[in-house]
Amino acid sequence: MKLLKDKIQQEGKVLSDVVLKVDSFLNHQIDPMLMQAVGEEFANRYSDEIITKVLTIESSGIAPATFLGLVLGAPVVFARKRKSLTLTDNLYSSKVYSFTKNEVNEISVSKNFLSADDRVIIIDDFLANGEALKGLIEIVQQAGAHVVGAGIVIEKGFQQGGQQLREQGLRIESLANIKSLANGKVEFFD
Ligand code: 5GP
Repeated sequence: MKLLKDKIQQEGKVLSDVVLKVDSFLNHQIDPMLMQAVGEEFANRYSDEIITKVLTIESSGIAPATFLGLVLGAPVVFARKRKSLTLTDNLYSSKVYSFTKNEVNEISVSKNFLSADDRVIIIDDFLANGEALKGLIEIVQQAGAHVVGAGIVIEKGFQQGGQQLREQGLRIESLANIKSLANGKVEFFD
């Protein structure tokens, strides 16, 4: 997606050979025009599928997921990273190791918002080692629902998550796929 790749080149900050900071449009400040285009692009790529629910993880997946939900007319559910006091049982949950924060989060979704007849698309801001996606897939499986596929805003293709999950049969559509962050430069796969 050219608009997104241009934005990454203009505003992305390469923090190391493995971490990209995009807090001017996705991870802190949000560019709603770009996120709207992202939502439309996901919808186009999955136009061959019936989708009843969009699932993401707080917080940075929420913006792209919501714009997709708007196009599809489908509800958006975000997995929470902390159990709130009012949400103690009636939960699907899984453990996710965070690549950027080096911590394990228990993520959870209320059983009220995912059911066995749902056809779910999973959205996230980044795909690195695939831990977040695996945790979200586990939650969909606990609900007995069907995973239609995943939509990723920025995949870092030099890490292993995308390849592993595709080999397991998961459909993943990523809108920008980074080949390298070496020498402070962002290089994309074609
Ligand atoms: P994974 O679970 O695939 O290893 O990592 C994906 C998750 O880690 C995403 O939800 C994202 O929040 C975070 N993440 C991974 N790599 C990066 C990165 O380079 N930049 C930012 N901003 N977040 C990242």
